[in-house]
Amino acid sequence: KGAFEELGPCEVIGFVSCGGCPGKRAVARARMLVDRGAEAVALASCICKGNPISFPCPHHETMIAAIRKKLGDGVPVLDHTH
Ligand code: SF4
Repeated sequence: KGAFEELGPCEVIGFVSCGGCPGKRAVARARMLVDRGAEAVALASCICKGNPISFPCPHHETMIAAIRKKLGDGVPVLDHTH
């Protein structure tokens, strides 16, 4: 369902936080998920879409760009979940 639909059957293998403003641990933690077997990384919908209160993370563009750069083209990085 949601953003995962394009990937086919999925299993959630882990959750991490960004590490606090301004997302100082987000890149390292995304890398850690991949090192532990994640084939894709999804940012929670609150970060980029501001769900449910229309208040997105003010650092979301920088954060997702840095994660995509670190993980490369082989790992899809979804900007929301649902
Ligand atoms: S506002 Fe953004 S950078 Fe700050 S804690 Fe929330 S998600 Fe992380």
